[in-house]
Amino acid sequence: MAADSQLISRQPHKPKLAVWKFTSCDGCQLSLLDCEDELLLLGQEVEIAYFMEASSKVEEGPYDISLVEGSITTPADLLRIQEVRRQSKFLVSIGACATAGGIQALRNFADVVEFTSVVYAEPSYIHTLKESTPIAAHVPVDFELQGCPINKLQLLEVISAFLNSRAPQVSSHSVCIECKLKNNVCVWVAHGTPCMGPVTHAGCGALCPSYNRGCYACYGPKENPNGESLCHWWEQNLGADRSTVIENLRNFNSLSPHFKEISQDREHRQKGKS
Ligand code: SF4
Ligand code: SF4
Repeated sequence: MAADSQLISRQPHKPKLAVWKFTSCDGCQLSLLDCEDELLLLGQEVEIAYFMEASSKVEEGPYDISLVEGSITTPADLLRIQEVRRQSKFLVSIGACATAGGIQALRNFADVVEFTSVVYAEPSYIHTLKESTPIAAHVPVDFELQGCPINKLQLLEVISAFLNSRAPQVSSHSVCIECKLKNNVCVWVAHGTPCMGPVTHAGCGALCPSYNRGCYACYGPKENPNGESLCHWWEQNLGADRSTVIENLRNFNSLSPHFKEISQDREHRQKGKS
């Protein structure tokens, strides 16, 4: 995590920070506003040049750092993300929507026309793509920060790293490590509660297991996860059916390559009844 002093850049002019929203709930942008104690310091180090969630002031690009929240779900998004990339020296995608499609990527496994006809009185007004896709599917991304919503201290660390031309130090170990650091009793071992913690990226401080709930992986896969083994144990030892396991993999981060591969494999086997 970033110590306050690490925010300090050594550039002669304040770098320009832009915050962009695509299809999302705004929760990750709120994580930036949630910095509270650190916001004034951040404001001393960067010029917050574009941040419609917080200000109507708009400074023209180019921008030094762009934070991009949300997934690409409309034809307009496709054009706008190209423009954001053109205007940005560094582009950081923030949150499960931007890095792994988000909840809205559930459409990728269903019929989006049917969805819109059920949800909207006038579906003809809806101009949407068949799929929700992460930012990196369309433009080069300099860093992906996982989480739903992202952890504000990890966000400050990423901004600090780009201001100081160094690699971000964001722990990629599992939620299990965070549990151990909090002296939590393991919910799986002690209570037989299914928990995705062993394969999930750190950042939440093991929030759910701290309240005796299983983790459902809103921070996405950790580095080198073995989700196949975890899901196998879940099915074999806790008797979960395959649909339940697939649904669990397809929530916030369904398009993260690791979860996508395991869920698709199970779906194929389910169709083949093997
Ligand atoms: S990742 Fe989660 S909190 Fe962030 S915008 Fe998407 S739904 Fe909201
Ligand atoms: S679901 Fe997992 S990653 Fe998300 S807050 Fe709960 S414990 Fe943390």
